[in-house]
Amino acid sequence: MRLSRYFLPVLKETPSEAQIVSHRLMLRAGMIKQSAAGIYSWLPLGFKVLRKIENIVHEEQMRAGHIPMQMPTLQSADLWKESGRYDAYGEEMLRITDRHGRDMLYTPTAEELITDIFRSNVSSYKDLPLTMYQIQWKFRDEIRPRFGVMRGREFYMKDGYNFDLSKEDALHAYNRHLVSYLRTYERMGLQAIPMRADGGPIGGDYTHEFLVLAETGESEVFYDSAVTDLSFGDREIDYDSVEQCQGVLEEFTTKYARTDETHDEALFGAVPEERRRTARGIEVGQIFYFGTKYSDALGAQVQTAEGEKVSVHMGSHGIGVSRLLGAIIEASHDDNGIIWPEGVTPFHAGIVNLKQGDAEADAACEALEKALEAAGLEPLYDDRKERAGGKFATMDLIGLPWRITVGPRGLKNGVVELTSRRTGESEELAPEAAVAKLIEIYADHRVTGL
Ligand code: ATP
Ligand code: MG
Repeated sequence: MRLSRYFLPVLKETPSEAQIVSHRLMLRAGMIKQSAAGIYSWLPLGFKVLRKIENIVHEEQMRAGHIPMQMPTLQSADLWKESGRYDAYGEEMLRITDRHGRDMLYTPTAEELITDIFRSNVSSYKDLPLTMYQIQWKFRDEIRPRFGVMRGREFYMKDGYNFDLSKEDALHAYNRHLVSYLRTYERMGLQAIPMRADGGPIGGDYTHEFLVLAETGESEVFYDSAVTDLSFGDREIDYDSVEQCQGVLEEFTTKYARTDETHDEALFGAVPEERRRTARGIEVGQIFYFGTKYSDALGAQVQTAEGEKVSVHMGSHGIGVSRLLGAIIEASHDDNGIIWPEGVTPFHAGIVNLKQGDAEADAACEALEKALEAAGLEPLYDDRKERAGGKFATMDLIGLPWRITVGPRGLKNGVVELTSRRTGESEELAPEAAVAKLIEIYADHRVTGL
């Protein structure tokens, strides 16, 4: 992509309405524009990162055996009246009346809708287990939308639902989700710690929230610092193995880690004092097992092998896809701007031409652009007639992890400069070597999407 042809409306001034760094940087880097309180347009750069994050979520969900599908953003209120949540959900639900006077609502979550799909089509234990998910816009009329995409009213969320014959099977689904979430967040360069949480309006006794530690987080958290040493890494996992998934759950949830809703001073006190931490965190996901709450209310039953009719055991599992952009930036930035982890960066590398219009420099930049594209990478080539300082500032602000700087002086010696956004370190390399190095760096960070 040529920057001269792209739409990247960067702001020089720091927007005064943004209170936290991720919101400021997303506005300054031209990623989002507010359309109404808590509702945003996703400008090209922001949209690209949103898609990367979404694709990682898809890949990891499908790897775990979960099936993608899509439900509408608008629903009829009927199912919610049937489950009893139409009144219970409160003012966060955006209620709409259509021209025929029918009660509609903008989906805040979709347990009722998916349970209705299930009950209309599944009646035998032979069709279980089943986990389906969607990545879809949600609306919650938050009383105080703030921090940009972090607490929006309209937001993009992955919501998955498992249907199982027994509690035991449903807990395996719960564990499978926990494992897949650990992988998902790590691929985004994030540490998200599973913490014991509270069921809220979705309900249920088994629930963990995934929290990214950050000063600006809205949740207060208490944990044993040993949990921050855990990482899932690139280990192989068999998602069908009850033992393996249970083992991972135990490894990641045995040490003390809770949000304030479930915090227990006495248990916390048993953690060695030097490892006791109180901090703030951003909730980037939550998993629930809630048994037969919705299947009882909506009559979602299957016939067992013995011919008995039983309510299915269910859970639901959410990832805050749009909130993740804010969380990643909170966790990865410096004074000059964003520092994207390789797994989610909107472009893989920036190309900065120090002397636009110089025949040799232009040709070298174009050759680099072509070579990277031929390798399946996406460079962003700053081909504008601007001062070098301005070009560097833009690249730093938008946070591409790697920059190739091309100028007549280096080219005389046959080299370009490859710079890491994270460390600031540069090395001089032949253009082909710079391309080869980027191919190697990104070999582990390919997102294939659907
Ligand atoms: P919160 O406690 O932050 O209000 P929640 O517990 O109500 O969130 P869930 O129902 O668990 O949210 O939704 C799944 C995920 O969707 C959350 O973990 C969070 O990452 C994301 N999410 C929830 N509400 C919002 C919002 N208003 N804006 C952006 N993301 C959100
Ligand atoms: Mg939650």
